[in-house]
Amino acid sequence: MLGLMQSQNLSISSLIDFAEKHNGDVEIVSRRVEGDIHRSNWEQIAQRARQVANALDALHIEMSGRVATLAWNGYRHLELYFGVSGSGRVLHTINPRLHPDQIVWIANHAEDQVLCFDMSFLPIVQQVHAKCNTIKHWVAMCDESLLPKDSGIPKLVSYETWIGKQSNQYTWPIFDENTASSMCYTSGTTGNPKAALYSHRSTLLHAYAAALPDVMCLSAKDSILPVVPMFHVNAWGIPYSAAMVGAKLVFPGPTLDGKSVYELIETEGVTFAAGVPTVWQMLLSHMKPSGLKFSKLNRTVIGGSACPPAMIHSFKEEYGVNVLHAWGMTEMSPLGTLCTLKNKHLSLPQDEQMNFLVKQGRVIFGVDMKIVNDEGLEQPHDGKAFGNLLVKGPWVLREYYKQEGGTPLVDGWFPTGDVATIDPDGYMQITDRSKDVIKSGGEWISSIDIENIAMGHPAVVMAACVGMPHPKWDERPIVVVVKKQGQDVTREEILSFYDNKISKWQKPDDVVFVDAIPLGATGKMLKTKLREQLKNYKLPV
Ligand code: ADP
Repeated sequence: MLGLMQSQNLSISSLIDFAEKHNGDVEIVSRRVEGDIHRSNWEQIAQRARQVANALDALHIEMSGRVATLAWNGYRHLELYFGVSGSGRVLHTINPRLHPDQIVWIANHAEDQVLCFDMSFLPIVQQVHAKCNTIKHWVAMCDESLLPKDSGIPKLVSYETWIGKQSNQYTWPIFDENTASSMCYTSGTTGNPKAALYSHRSTLLHAYAAALPDVMCLSAKDSILPVVPMFHVNAWGIPYSAAMVGAKLVFPGPTLDGKSVYELIETEGVTFAAGVPTVWQMLLSHMKPSGLKFSKLNRTVIGGSACPPAMIHSFKEEYGVNVLHAWGMTEMSPLGTLCTLKNKHLSLPQDEQMNFLVKQGRVIFGVDMKIVNDEGLEQPHDGKAFGNLLVKGPWVLREYYKQEGGTPLVDGWFPTGDVATIDPDGYMQITDRSKDVIKSGGEWISSIDIENIAMGHPAVVMAACVGMPHPKWDERPIVVVVKKQGQDVTREEILSFYDNKISKWQKPDDVVFVDAIPLGATGKMLKTKLREQLKNYKLPV
């Protein structure tokens, strides 16, 4: 017997309809590429999203046609999020930090038909446009007055003229909820990038889950600053969840330095912010010397790479801000786990709570996870045994878009490529990417543990741990360190900083000081490149 409830397809257009109808006056504030602060609201976003839909109809972009963006976080990008997907096309957010050749490869692979770009990316578009075989329409996300006369890009139109000609009346089409809504390519540090193709259903379910109290706890009371880019896994789904709960959104545009981000947090009453550790490092470095404090910010979600415990501590102790450590990946829309305390841990002393809060957290309803050894045997949840982390759920990838070789799933589970422990209370902790694991004398050493300890040293701004070949132990860890500006520290001081923090055999054998650690397109440390740079390095004997 089937239930007798209404059956309604989950759709992204329902989010923007809801936001307009019930929270139309809630502000959307953007720092623009032009440099000024722009103010809009959910009603205007909805109207202009419908203009986008009409503009795509006018170009005869068919259902599921790919519309690409090369853009920062801002109101126009938000309008495209809803106008493109809501009208049945697929929003393809391209990461502008990728190499131009990769951008060309991605645009051709996705068969993009339209590209909307911020003017700061005009030089990239000028470099790649002739090689993007399927893109027929180029839209500069600016006013007509800012459109360059001789850009060299065929039939370039300004966004404002493009949508300005269109009506803001539009009836969103109804289609199967499994229809593709947006796509995002992984950064492709090894081989060509691969694309996750999200659906309306996966996006809506993820948006519900992200807003739950033990996840991001989003509500109409919030003013949210997604520093995480909209070109990286849909800014962790925040634009959709914000529309769902009627929260205010504050977009930082291209200006991500500590001073600008701090000003925006304060002037716009930001209560909740989201970003990768490197961005928060810049924010704290700006605030510390001048003794600045937050007036409303009470929590921040940090993920994308391991958040150093020293940062979680500093946010809590010095600024009264709770860090929610999160883990996920492009293939998971992206949220998998988030770290909030269980009731029974709330009464623990602060330092014991910290033992949990540094972990990547508890799995979100909707996602299932397990750890297995190399033979596929499930490992115990005792917080000690570690294994390859596998996940499944309605917002986890089943297959990559147009990827030969079939599904990557193993018995229905997606192998994340991460190695983790899970404790008896379900808190998961990533110890490494499987390709970064260091194996010394048959035992695994967590490079993240070694990095976290170095990052706790007051003179260290960034640390990366890599394994070096060793004749007796196979591999031994070394730590590559970037010193804080104006600070000095010796190799011996760093090495002795590990005393009593980690077992002796896990301590790094050496310290290498560098000016910078290579970062990838999503701001993560590029260990492949670092290893290349260290190819002539020899361990001390
Ligand atoms: P990429 O395109 O670089 O794969 P993703 O954002 O999809 O970008 O990267 C996902 C990977 O990032 C995860 O598999 C994991 O290795 C790492 N990661 C994400 N969040 C965390 C975290 N909180 N701690 C440690 N590693 C993380």
